[in-house]
Amino acid sequence: MTKLIVANWKMNKNAKACFEFFDTFNAKYSSKREAWIAPQSIHLNLVINQGMKANVKAGLQNCSDHTSGAFTGEISPVNAKELGTHFVILGHSERREIFKETSKTIAAKVKTAHQSDLKVIFCLGETLAERESGMTETVLKDQLNQGLSDQSLATADNLVVAYEPIWAIGTGKTATPAMAQEAHAFIRSILKDKFPGFGEKVRLLYGGSVKPDNVEELLAQKDIDGGLVGGASLKANDFLALCGDK
Ligand code: PEP
Repeated sequence: MTKLIVANWKMNKNAKACFEFFDTFNAKYSSKREAWIAPQSIHLNLVINQGMKANVKAGLQNCSDHTSGAFTGEISPVNAKELGTHFVILGHSERREIFKETSKTIAAKVKTAHQSDLKVIFCLGETLAERESGMTETVLKDQLNQGLSDQSLATADNLVVAYEPIWAIGTGKTATPAMAQEAHAFIRSILKDKFPGFGEKVRLLYGGSVKPDNVEELLAQKDIDGGLVGGASLKANDFLALCGDK
């Protein structure tokens, strides 16, 4: 399976910085690993057009659980799809913690995104307190069951799951490859039960301070199919290194 590296640019980069990124990235990217980029939605068109030159797919960092209507400030997944958007990240811990998104809302967004023909990267992960009190597996199981409830439209091709221990996001603390593998194997076992026939093929990404100097060890783990990357995806040369193009 080709590894998948996803950039979550969060609320970073102005348009000029996006163009500069692609000037460097497109010149060296070899497609050895799949590369997807989620910019701020105001730069979606730019990233779709620049990414197209090197077969890089563009996506949203969030979307509405409705496709149209009186929802001021929201982003319609179906309209994003029409533009050429490939995927949406849902359930990111920053959406859960800062914007108080519940598993119920996330489940509704996953469903609407699939109905709109977007691929979904579903994020889950435990806090440090949950890990230290031995709750990791319970938390992951609950997040999977609640956030992916009623997923009759999910397939191995349109669902990607990203395990992101919250204590490792943007902190410089990475789960050891063994810790990440253990959580991924657990998630894989739940997906197999939940989605008989294709659960074992759903791609599982690891996220949390992935950097050029730890990516290879993480990707060498049996159940790690790629990475979801914040900080280290912002510089073109670092993202190239994550994609296996030094
Ligand atoms: C993220 O926010 O999804 C993330 C993994 O960030 P970072 O790589 O900066 O830890």
